[in-house]
Amino acid sequence: MTRIPVGGVEVDRCDGCGSLWFDALELDRVLATKGGAKAIDLKASGGTASPSPKTAHKCPVDHSDLIDMSDLRQAHIKSQCCTVCGGIQLDAGELTDLANFSLKERFAHLLNRMKD
Ligand SMILES: [Zn+2]
Repeated sequence: MTRIPVGGVEVDRCDGCGSLWFDALELDRVLATKGGAKAIDLKASGGTASPSPKTAHKCPVDHSDLIDMSDLRQAHIKSQCCTVCGGIQLDAGELTDLANFSLKERFAHLLNRMKD
């Protein structure tokens, strides 16, 4: 794991598979940071991350089992989350996916408001 400072927080990234670990609330901070997702997501920066196995993930903080969680807005994004500390793990590329949607969502929201 490498700690990468972004948006005032430090995110853990696995050196092997490129998956990212966010402590509770860190994900929101990164998504709210302009270019934050791009800066730390290996897939976005053209790195050679290999997909990580989806099984037997443990929380790096308290070693609890992680549960699979689909993003409410983007069901194809499967994150793993810890029910004990609230941490979230995303595979390489998934953070970029989440961030892109946020921008599109904001744009759609704006368009809807203009129609009123
Ligand atoms: Zn935990």
